Amino acid sequence: MRTLNLRQLILLLSISAAVLVLANTFYTSYKTQRALLVEQTLEANHAYALKTADNVNNFLLAAQQQLAFAATDVLLAAGDPRQLQHIVERLKQQTDSFNSVLVVDAEGVALAITQPAERFLGHKLQNAGAAEALVVKKPLISQPYISVTEHLVVFLTHPVFDQQGAYLGFVGGAIYLDADSVLSSVLGEHYHADDSYLYVVDSDGRLIYHKDSSRVGHIVQHNAVIEQVKAGRSGRAPVLNLQGLEMLAGYAPVPSAGWGVVAQRSLSATLATMKQQMLDVAQYSFPFFILIMLVVWVLSRWISKPLWQMAQSAKHLDAADANTRITGIHVWYFEAFELRRAMLQGLANLSKKMGQLNLETITDPLTGLMNRRGLQVTLEEWEKAAIPFAVVIGDIDHFKNINDKFGHAMGDDVLQFLAQHLRDLSRPDDIICRFGGEEFVLLLPKISTDQAYKVAERMRIYIENTIHPGIGAPITLSFGVASWPAGRLSIAQVLKNADEALYVAKEAGRNQVHISAA
Ligand code: GH3
Ligand code: MG
Ligand code: MG
Repeated sequence: MRTLNLRQLILLLSISAAVLVLANTFYTSYKTQRALLVEQTLEANHAYALKTADNVNNFLLAAQQQLAFAATDVLLAAGDPRQLQHIVERLKQQTDSFNSVLVVDAEGVALAITQPAERFLGHKLQNAGAAEALVVKKPLISQPYISVTEHLVVFLTHPVFDQQGAYLGFVGGAIYLDADSVLSSVLGEHYHADDSYLYVVDSDGRLIYHKDSSRVGHIVQHNAVIEQVKAGRSGRAPVLNLQGLEMLAGYAPVPSAGWGVVAQRSLSATLATMKQQMLDVAQYSFPFFILIMLVVWVLSRWISKPLWQMAQSAKHLDAADANTRITGIHVWYFEAFELRRAMLQGLANLSKKMGQLNLETITDPLTGLMNRRGLQVTLEEWEKAAIPFAVVIGDIDHFKNINDKFGHAMGDDVLQFLAQHLRDLSRPDDIICRFGGEEFVLLLPKISTDQAYKVAERMRIYIENTIHPGIGAPITLSFGVASWPAGRLSIAQVLKNADEALYVAKEAGRNQVHISAA
């Protein structure tokens, strides 16, 4: 699996965080909005049911009032058929409350009756409302029933008594619930616009008003809201309708008739507007989300850049410009700053260590002088830089005898003793090297062969006159001298020449300096 880089991690983190926050915001605002809408709809439906129930109640009370007035007139008419007909016609036309008005005698026979039921004039009324009115002799509002005219009818009556209190019959008004009437306009007004609707049930739970007229007359069962309103209670509740849809209902009773008014709206219709709203919010927040992501993209680059640069530099710590490169990295926050500092520190330690190792590889452990390898490196550098120099090769005379006589350890001591004196006798720029065994090479920069001869001679004389404490006598050295550049000779050839001069010095009796003849 590919490893993610810091920038991708930052982006991933930011996107997840943003998505989570957005989702959470969406979810909570959806929840609260939904609760608010449901609450508002329930409240509005309750208020509307209350208002409508009140209107219906007032209408029925007013209609009864009108019948009561008419009842007084009926008494005054004293049975005159023309006057009675006049009374019923006037009541129907003036008030517009009833679809049909009539007057009956104590037996229930129609004495006067308006359209469209005039054919019942002189007949005994058969409906349940009329029968009950004749028995109880009180103002009544009947249960709705299907009349002989095939209408769903509610029948309002008011009794007529003479001055002696004898029952003379009643004045009745029929209201067709399934046809246009003042009642239907009270119920049906203004309320179908936004999927909300209203229905009315009688005290048996029978639908007596519904926007779907085919359902009028049916009895609704197992509906919690209808049970409540039938019991005379007002309130609000979510309820499932016949189709199983969840409805938000408000309900209120009509006390005068024992009816109940229910106003309701489907939950899905209620929430439909909100879904659009949420979509709008999502749409509006999308560009903002993109903008945030862009900012995060740029920021992630700023944050990851120094670390990325340091990671790249870490791959090439051995490069000559590693230090410059790391120092050049722009660090603008704490961790990057510390990291860079640690890297530079580590790099410094590393170079120091490497320097030490280098030094060790070019140093002779016994004398601390440069070894043969160091000499080689120096010669290459000087050749490259074209630094002229003289070579002096010195070799201890009869060193083997010292070893043999005083032991190897004493021999070592003599080598150290000699190294110290060679150092003391040379200048800081001179290179002194233990070439191997008891042979030493000196590189004297910017010096002629003659001058080098003098240096070697001075050293020879000094050593010759210096007693080594261990062996109680001085030692002596023989020297060969040459210099570079000399004609077209290579450095190797010059060294060889110096060695040959040394050989000549040995041959000539030792403890002397010879210049190469070449
Ligand atoms: P000559 O005058 O011809 O140079 O005689 P020599 O005895 O100095 O020369 P030779 O080359 O025959 O012997 C060199 C001796 O130096 C041999 C060896 O045992 C000794 N030697 C070489 N390296 C060391 C060392 O590191 N320590 C000691 N103690 N002796 C060494
Ligand atoms: Mg020797
Ligand atoms: Mg030797």
